[in-house]
Amino acid sequence: MTDSRQPTSLDNPQEEILLRCNRCNKPITPETAVLTPTGYRCKECVRAQQKVFDTTKGLDVPLAFIISAAIAFAGSWLAGRIGFLVLFVAPGVGTLTANVVRWVVRRRRSKALNKAVLWGSILGSLPLIVMRLLPFLNLNSGLTAVGGLLPLVWQGIFALLLISSAYYQTTGIKLS
Ligand SMILES: [Zn+2]
Repeated sequence: MTDSRQPTSLDNPQEEILLRCNRCNKPITPETAVLTPTGYRCKECVRAQQKVFDTTKGLDVPLAFIISAAIAFAGSWLAGRIGFLVLFVAPGVGTLTANVVRWVVRRRRSKALNKAVLWGSILGSLPLIVMRLLPFLNLNSGLTAVGGLLPLVWQGIFALLLISSAYYQTTGIKLS
């Protein structure tokens, strides 16, 4: 044994490469490595993978927005009339939104689609709430507006239940 010294990383540049992308086998540094559920990957491979999950095309996203807004608006109108029943109806309306959107976009999916459902549900639930709030801004009609207070409360509860239900069930598609 003539050479007994321990090799160091300075002697051997190969040792600098601690990680390899488990998809393309390219050497990656700890700074550029991305930890995925299947191991470390380079940024290029992660980006390519994300595109696979983004399958929406054409009018999918605007359609999802319009459908969500239309269902939310109709539901909000109904919520002002059925009172406490919104507690049972609203989650169902969320399921309806998710199912109709899923059917229309033929089960294609993307993050933009989830956002379209979220914002469609929010904006569709708002007009009637804003309309009922407007009389409260006018002092003269403030007293008569109290009659609209209860429907307003139910429409508010409906909006919250619908938005969370529709969004949860749309994003939940990823898990199944
Ligand atoms: Zn890679």
